[in-house]
Amino acid sequence: MYNMKIGFIGLGVMGLPIASNLLRAGFELVAFDINQARIQELPMQEKVLAASAPQEVAVADVVILMLPNTPQVEEVVLGEKGLLENMSRKSLLIDMSSISPVATKKIAGQLAERGIDFLDAPVSGGQSGAINGTLTIMVGGKRDVFDRAQPIFQAVGKRIIYCGDHGSGQIVKVVNQLMSAVNLVGMAEAFTLGVKAGVAPEIMRDVILGGSGRCWALEDRMPVILERNFEPGFTIDLHTKDIKLALELGNELRVPIYASSLVHEVFKTLQIKGKGGKDNSAVITLYEEMAGVEVRKKQ
Ligand code: NAD
Repeated sequence: MYNMKIGFIGLGVMGLPIASNLLRAGFELVAFDINQARIQELPMQEKVLAASAPQEVAVADVVILMLPNTPQVEEVVLGEKGLLENMSRKSLLIDMSSISPVATKKIAGQLAERGIDFLDAPVSGGQSGAINGTLTIMVGGKRDVFDRAQPIFQAVGKRIIYCGDHGSGQIVKVVNQLMSAVNLVGMAEAFTLGVKAGVAPEIMRDVILGGSGRCWALEDRMPVILERNFEPGFTIDLHTKDIKLALELGNELRVPIYASSLVHEVFKTLQIKGKGGKDNSAVITLYEEMAGVEVRKKQ
């Protein structure tokens, strides 16, 4: 069992609610974000110590990261005055960000040389899962370290699954993100076609929820599309990052990734059009613009 003080770096859409649930579960936090204002948004401020650099967070014997991508994780861990230099032996670093599985294995190796334990623990379940403490957490690393970290995972997630050695959590996450991107684009294309051909999208959704086209995109994202609410949520920029991680892995392992490459071009086009900061459900707007229709609820 670790101490009740946890270091937390990255208080964005996901990190802020996850850190809040840790506080509610009785943990104390040493928190850092380059956007210092985020620290003030945490509840129970009396249990929060605001840090002004990653090295100040290293006083805790468990540190959690929830950062955008590989370069930010490398910066806070390996950079000057980073966690690698400042965390003590036998302490634990948990990376809940979605980053490169290849970089993850390297980081785990460097930390091991210093006697620091490491778990990669990316999540799925989105902002609502983070707020409600119902995230799925996919964990890579040593089994005994995973077992010891259970009280922390239990405070923020519902399905906590051990996936194997270092990097395994990130590999499962990449696979999930690839599938979700492909079915999101598939749904956007198909629904734009159906609406252009003259059927109401709510009817199509009702029917297909009981058909072989049923998928997460239809269950979770179509309601957002019908309401025309494209504020994030999970941004096109972050989903594009995940698709790129899949492309990298496919190239490294020489595994063909046809659909992933096509879907990457669709997401890239949306970024070029200035929609990278929108929710990933906004993928459909690309198809809608070309078809001259909108997939929206009948007024
Ligand atoms: P976000 O951009 O909202 O939050 C990232 C936070 O990290 C920001 O507050 C930012 O200021 C901070 N930050 C960036 N660089 C930093 C640095 N060098 N040092 C300290 N703080 C720094 O992103 P998010 O949506 O919370 O996603 C975080 C991770 O979780 C990503 O890897 C994402 O792919 C993954 N994820 C997101 C969702 C989702 O629905 N948003 C779901 C599952 C997984």
